Amino acid sequence: MRLLRSTDLALRVLMRLAAAGDSNPTTRDVSTVMDVPYTHAAKVVAVLRHMGLLTARRGRGGGLALTEEGRTASVGAVVRAFEGEGDVADCEGAATSSPCPLSSGCRLRGALRGAQEAFFASLDPVTVADIVEAPTGPLLLGISPRP
Ligand code: SF4
Repeated sequence: MRLLRSTDLALRVLMRLAAAGDSNPTTRDVSTVMDVPYTHAAKVVAVLRHMGLLTARRGRGGGLALTEEGRTASVGAVVRAFEGEGDVADCEGAATSSPCPLSSGCRLRGALRGAQEAFFASLDPVTVADIVEAPTGPLLLGISPRP
């Protein structure tokens, strides 16, 4: 199962803020260091802010800061929120406009749902604070923007 780009970026933003401690990088700082378009980073930051996982203040002395809820957030909960809990296969035909002929009675669909839930559940006990313990946190802070 491959994560959506926005899910991975959301986790990286949370990790960067968790590693940053009391410094408050801006969305532009984060997008530069993560080498992603500013608009993509800004969309992800807006969702994380709406979820109460970070605060964003404009102007001098402003920037992004992780909330306590963000520091202790479950990685599984963040992944569920960004990925959604829809089918991993396109059973209802969102991409093709016609549902799979087996969609009303497919055992594979049930098995894939079980696997998806197991994937999320394995991430539920892991917190944002956990995933920035060394060596990851120091590595994150040492990343320089690409020239
Ligand atoms: S075969 Fe089953 S799992 Fe695959 S798309 Fe069709 S309904 Fe979904």
